[in-house]
Amino acid sequence: MRRIALLVAAALLTGGALPGAQSQTRVVMLGTGTPNADPDRYGPSVAVVVDETSYLVDFGVGVVRRAAAAERSGIKALAATKLTTAFATHLHSDHTLGLADLILTPWILERPTPLRVYGPRGLRAMTNHLIAAYADDLRIRTRGGEPRHGHDPRRVDVHEIVPGLVYRDERVTVTAFAVTHGAWAQAFGYRFQTPDRTIVISWDTGPESGLADQCRRCDVLVHEVYSEAGFAKRPPEWQAYHSRYHTSTRELGAIASRAQPGLLVLYHQLIWSSTEDELLKEVRSAYAGKVVSAHDLDVY
Ligand SMILES: [Zn+2]
Ligand SMILES: [Zn+2]
Repeated sequence: MRRIALLVAAALLTGGALPGAQSQTRVVMLGTGTPNADPDRYGPSVAVVVDETSYLVDFGVGVVRRAAAAERSGIKALAATKLTTAFATHLHSDHTLGLADLILTPWILERPTPLRVYGPRGLRAMTNHLIAAYADDLRIRTRGGEPRHGHDPRRVDVHEIVPGLVYRDERVTVTAFAVTHGAWAQAFGYRFQTPDRTIVISWDTGPESGLADQCRRCDVLVHEVYSEAGFAKRPPEWQAYHSRYHTSTRELGAIASRAQPGLLVLYHQLIWSSTEDELLKEVRSAYAGKVVSAHDLDVY
């Protein structure tokens, strides 16, 4: 028992995997977008897939259809009926516009269990309002002659969380940590420890969120970023906003240099008038490790 505890402690300290594991963990970029209506980048959502089970972090526009696209490419854990567990980083609309989709679409497609969702204060009220907004739809679908559904769609297991251990099963341990994101009272990043990998996901965050300490040589650090060259051409009022709410390429380079992830994955890229190549160049000028700029449906 003591030996197991020591091994677990050692694995957590180094950010490494527990020994003897056979599992395969993948990070699937369902949507890498921002509030900008870019048709190539759907709303923010990342799936951590451990073998046959998926865990979502955020649920932007199109989340269920992006998951279906990943399923079609062979990741069976992202079938609509298997979308049962999700974590919200914060309640900005671009990150949560898919909540109604996630509650209702898999239910119609006969998901056997209710959605369970973890996130900041306000998530319960948002969920209840969405269910109320669809009251007529739910009434017609349950009593209007549609074949029987697996569970009551009004039931969503909502957990409003605080930083610390928020979820654990036999495949994954999920720890939430507070990040700074402008005026939001609560915003979280999540650290996933699976049998074979440690994955840290920030979604939206300013540069002062201690991500390096959360990663500590983790296997994959998934981090937002904005282009300094693009930023320089933004109006002053937007510059004030972005520098307070988000993380620049140079700032991210410094964070990643301390964190030393096996792979740094960029998403929620704010590029503006610059280019993706320039964005990567900017990060690389401040960070020597392996870095990629993600697109929707990339798998790491
Ligand atoms: Zn965002
Ligand atoms: Zn945000």
